[in-house]
Amino acid sequence: MHPLVSATSATAVSVLVIGVMLLLLALPFWRGSARAAVAEVHPMHCSGCRRCVADCPYDAITMVPHPQRRGFALAEVDADACASCGICVGSCPSSTPFRSMATLVTGIDLPQQPIDDLRRAMRERLAAMTAPIRIVVFGCDQSAAVREVDSDDVAAFSFTCTGQLPPSFVEYALRDGASGVLVCTCPESGCAFRLGERWTAERLAGIRAPVLRSSVEETRWELVACAGYNLTPLRTALAALRRRLDVRGSSK
Ligand code: SF4
Ligand code: SF4
Repeated sequence: MHPLVSATSATAVSVLVIGVMLLLLALPFWRGSARAAVAEVHPMHCSGCRRCVADCPYDAITMVPHPQRRGFALAEVDADACASCGICVGSCPSSTPFRSMATLVTGIDLPQQPIDDLRRAMRERLAAMTAPIRIVVFGCDQSAAVREVDSDDVAAFSFTCTGQLPPSFVEYALRDGASGVLVCTCPESGCAFRLGERWTAERLAGIRAPVLRSSVEETRWELVACAGYNLTPLRTALAALRRRLDVRGSSK
């Protein structure tokens, strides 16, 4: 401060300090125009199961009486508390892709990245792949940049948070032509949205609903934790899965 006062004046420095303080005080009330859209509930596809309430890391969801179904509850999102992470999408049982409907409409979704868009993109990509071993990689924008490993035999999809991934999508990818699936999360306790990596691991391990069905062959999928600055664990896990699938294919 002293050199600054000497170079300018005490009044100028006082004005500067007060200005900076006011800016800092205003920060909590400032909302950038780029704020992502919050999770959106689709009332006709919400069964009132409360799984999204249990999994939301920000306590942004409460249950209210369903306006169209007497005696049922409906999820309601507090837009001020929602971090737009999508973890609730992965927790919603309506996100299951095994229903025979043209458009997958889930109970709760991110408008900027609807789960049906991902399902379509995955289906189209797998249909276009001709490599003998085809791997689908699911990851997120917060951990390792999975798009770096996208290639002729690897279809990489990046969610807002890997917790947005309905576990059934692993089975869906396999049924749709993938040889194997690699799921990439942030390292333990390193999720940018607090709980995405934990819920993903528990859902895939079958200890937190919705679970990956036990009928899915264990050798055909893998979970890897990978920090955003280090792609090595992702590449290593991918190579190991590819070798495993190769051995599985040649032993058939
Ligand atoms: S998007 Fe994330 S923060 Fe928002 S309601 Fe869903 S789980 Fe909660
Ligand atoms: S998880 Fe889906 S079905 Fe269950 S309460 Fe939330 S939005 Fe509704």
